[in-house]
Amino acid sequence: MTKELQTYRNADLAKSLLRQIEKEVSRPLRIMEVCGGHTMAIHKYGINNLLPDDIQLISGPGCPVCVTPVAYMDILLQIAMQPDVIIASYGDLMRVPGNLGNLEAVRAKGADVRLVISPLDALKKAKENPGKKVVFPAIGFETTAPGTAVALLKAREMDVDNFFVLASHRTMPEAMQKLASGKINIDGFIGPGHVSCITGSDVYGFLASKYGIPVVISGFEPIDLLMSLLMILKQARLSKAVVENQYDRAVKPAGNVQAQKIMYSVFESCDAEWRGLGKINGSGLEIRESFGKWNALQHFKTSPVASNEDKRCICGKILTGLKDPGQCPLFGAQCTPEQPVGACMVSHEGTCNAWYRFKFMSNGNNTSTSRQRRKINA
Ligand code: SF4
Repeated sequence: MTKELQTYRNADLAKSLLRQIEKEVSRPLRIMEVCGGHTMAIHKYGINNLLPDDIQLISGPGCPVCVTPVAYMDILLQIAMQPDVIIASYGDLMRVPGNLGNLEAVRAKGADVRLVISPLDALKKAKENPGKKVVFPAIGFETTAPGTAVALLKAREMDVDNFFVLASHRTMPEAMQKLASGKINIDGFIGPGHVSCITGSDVYGFLASKYGIPVVISGFEPIDLLMSLLMILKQARLSKAVVENQYDRAVKPAGNVQAQKIMYSVFESCDAEWRGLGKINGSGLEIRESFGKWNALQHFKTSPVASNEDKRCICGKILTGLKDPGQCPLFGAQCTPEQPVGACMVSHEGTCNAWYRFKFMSNGNNTSTSRQRRKINA
């Protein structure tokens, strides 16, 4: 373990922070993390179990796979079944359910679906297979959109005409605005770490100034998360709401300006559908017309598909912090990471998946009520 990691996983420091957190809690608080990496870290390190009962951590729509709409999967699956098509996809998408099944199922029926590690890897597949049409399903937030943009710029530069992108990128600040203005009470946001490396921390200012919600951008180690929680609690006790950046070793106020320029040279903002959250104005990134030649939506014919989603799946409520996985009747029985029913169980960053893997079982409305409480030695 590196020296830096030792610091961010230091047990004595963690105990000290937990003692400060216990002293700082002035009232019941609901704090939402909106980054799948944070959801996973909170469950992996058991942070949820160590906090005072008055603090409830809720997960938001931070897992890219989980918020990918069913309609998008249906378009992708229809393209996959067309002749001379190779779908070059990340592994995470393989079992995301659409109305027509999933990529794994269509591959079993003969579709050519191959795993790639990046959009440039997909572009390489296109160059290696000139007789085929290679389609890259591009999902994710501001973290991954610049990489997709680079692949499209390269495709234009090299005049590759058998490479296509099916874009479903989403932007996080607009989703956080929808949550902030919605039905659930959010007393603080643990701001996304990876997304903010691109967007910067300044972009979340409106959440504090307009909605009065403290935001602390956090890193992913246990000390990062405990420090971020303490920073939110301090703001809450002082009735303050500002954006603070605990993860300043990676996140700058203006973010990665070069990556933003590349992203917006290829994409432009559009209204977009999120699984669980519905349509959010300005929250999507669509391929600019000047890159239409590589836009899979313009190249392939597909049609809408009638919904056959399992009505018992409560992914939508989980992604908006209204319920937790323990309240789903299918959790851990009919729905497991091996046999996922809903998208929240598919990705390792999904809330249901994190609950399942780290065995955080709940049977009530409030995750706090089910905690296996461990006392911190004073
Ligand atoms: S446990 Fe499965 S079915 Fe239930 S909400 Fe999560 S993903 Fe949906």
